[in-house]
Amino acid sequence: MDNEGSLNTVQNLDCQAVWNNCLDYIRPKVPTQTFDTWFRPIKAISLTDEELFLQVPNKFFYDWIDSHYKEILHRTLRELMGSGLLIKYTVLLAEDTEEKHDLVKSSLNEPSLANEVVVKTGMLEKGTRINEGYIFDNFVVGSCNQFAKAAAVAVANAPGRTSFNPLVIYGGTGLGKTHLLQAIGNETLSTGRARKVTYVSSDTFTLDFIAAIQKNKTTDFSRYYRSFDMLLLDDIQFFQGKEQTQEQFFHIFNDLYQRRRQIVLTTDRQPMELRGLQERLLSRFQSALTVDIQPPDLETRIAILQQKAMHDGLDIPYEIIEYLATNIRSNIRELEGAMIRLLAYSSLLQVDIDLGLAQKVLREFIGSGHASLISIESIQGVVSSSYKVNLDQMIGKIRTKEVAEARMVAMYFAREYTNLSLKTIGLYFGGRDHSTVVHACKWVESKVAEEPQFSQRFSFMKNKIESTI
Ligand code: ADP
Ligand code: MG
Repeated sequence: MDNEGSLNTVQNLDCQAVWNNCLDYIRPKVPTQTFDTWFRPIKAISLTDEELFLQVPNKFFYDWIDSHYKEILHRTLRELMGSGLLIKYTVLLAEDTEEKHDLVKSSLNEPSLANEVVVKTGMLEKGTRINEGYIFDNFVVGSCNQFAKAAAVAVANAPGRTSFNPLVIYGGTGLGKTHLLQAIGNETLSTGRARKVTYVSSDTFTLDFIAAIQKNKTTDFSRYYRSFDMLLLDDIQFFQGKEQTQEQFFHIFNDLYQRRRQIVLTTDRQPMELRGLQERLLSRFQSALTVDIQPPDLETRIAILQQKAMHDGLDIPYEIIEYLATNIRSNIRELEGAMIRLLAYSSLLQVDIDLGLAQKVLREFIGSGHASLISIESIQGVVSSSYKVNLDQMIGKIRTKEVAEARMVAMYFAREYTNLSLKTIGLYFGGRDHSTVVHACKWVESKVAEEPQFSQRFSFMKNKIESTI
């Protein structure tokens, strides 16, 4: 294509076709793994005579491309399309994630970005604001989330017509609340069971409301939200202390509820524990079905990573997946982050992904404060509250059944989750001998195997401990 004509013809071209040409051009110039990891997942979403909009899966991805492959991308476009075409990136993100803020910040701090790259977040359809990548099909189910998923599916199948209205999903950060919430929206829209569906984070809701007040348009604001058949509101803990927003939401909620429109909410803790929320809102939530998402167990973590790898067309050895899943326990977002980082390293250093590389990446990941080891104090805390035994009793001399059991369970978890030697663990429990710790661990293992009731309590504590990582 010659340079003169290119700018005019560009308009008429299908942007995906143009991008496919670019990919063909790039493919032979970079290692296959690099191509598969960093170029294949990019989608072209629009093309004008001035700019090509590319969509990338996340901010990390964008940073990586921008710092490593900017040159080759520009060269490709110069070659194929003539000069003058700018590349702009869109990150496929829900509007509310913390990553958005990082992204905006980095675009301000980095002069090269200001010239050439405009970063936009939230490529979400206007009105619905739903991210199409979050669907039920790619939500891996384990015992930690199966009830939440079942409730979400029920609601998506019959919005406003089940007794799950509102539905409240709660759970710690990075465990899949937003994924599930948006999957409800995607499913409902794709089956046409509700026409007008919106997803909004509580932060965005609040900001929109403040803007409406400033422009004297609160009536429009309220009318807008009342117009939906399904309202998916994420992270309502952010409403804490925001009286006026809560007031506004209360009225919208009542109106939707009375007209049997579906409402789904998420929060990072049990609704009862939401401090700073008006009583009358809380009492509305009490009529809700509340479902929780717990930290995933090892098998679920492995399944999630396998699924992500398959989805992105990556061939990661099983032992590596297991290694990551064993070491990053509490948060799926971090689990995914570690995998992306691993790919990044392998493609940068042009080496295969093996256990050594995974260990190196994980050390940095842990070192950078993403994950940390569990303290023995937090283990003792979890166990003592489960058994209603206080710490003094746990480290003291009492040998009642309840206290002795709590003590042994806490010792077991200390061995599992800390790097402390058996001797040191003994010291934390009132100066007991290391053989006492060994005995305790054996006892716990056999109880778990033999007594379902014990085993249930045990998994509950285990999840709690893992969620503190
Ligand atoms: P939360 O809103 O609870 O903080 P997210 O829904 O944002 O968590 O989930 C964090 C990341 O983990 C997302 O990329 C999401 O797709 C992924 N994820 C969470 N749970 C699952 C699951 N069960 N199966 C597959 N991916 C999951
Ligand atoms: Mg979320």
